Amino acid sequence: MEPTITAYEYSDITQQVNTLVSAYLSVNDKRMRRVVRDTTIERISAYLPADNPIAEEFLSRLQPDRLTREAAAKLLPTLEPLVVPFPSLSQKQLSKLFRKVKKLKQPEWADLDLHELTYLGWNDGGNQKKYLVAPYHDRLIGIQGDMGPKTVKGVCAICQTIGNVSLFVSTTKRSGLGTFTRNGNYICRDSAQCNRQLTDPQPLADFIETVHAKR
Ligand SMILES: [Zn+2]
Repeated sequence: MEPTITAYEYSDITQQVNTLVSAYLSVNDKRMRRVVRDTTIERISAYLPADNPIAEEFLSRLQPDRLTREAAAKLLPTLEPLVVPFPSLSQKQLSKLFRKVKKLKQPEWADLDLHELTYLGWNDGGNQKKYLVAPYHDRLIGIQGDMGPKTVKGVCAICQTIGNVSLFVSTTKRSGLGTFTRNGNYICRDSAQCNRQLTDPQPLADFIETVHAKR
């Protein structure tokens, strides 16, 4: 069967399971633990396909009281066959998305878990650049910008989580006017971490809309 769970839904499932594990460690009352567990299972079930053996097995393993962090870490990847992975792009496909970049630094594909990526982002530390590939109106687009050298604690414009963010400055050409606008947004320095925190696709869509060059 075709995978149906999106990467950001998978991130939410991961967060829900981790929150449940934390609750098990802090809640002594068995009935309270059941309430937390039932709520978690209900929320996760909404993302899972019906009548699917992988999904059913996953939910059944969430049923017992108490789940260790180790068991949760083993359980979560069993869902990956149901998660739509980010496409693995060839060097040629990437060059097409960044036509103006002469020597495009390639992402470290081996370090990436494609099931966790709603967008692809990587840094070219030497040139203080960040490259993003993100869905935009049913296709993928490339966005490049300058990444400030400083890292501060702040809210990321993409995942809306407080973490280590840097100022990302991109230049956008406005259609018709022939003028350029510089956009600055604080976003996570580590895009892999950002993706794991991204559970709502809307702020990413808004961000892309702001920084994407209109043609
Ligand atoms: Zn982020």
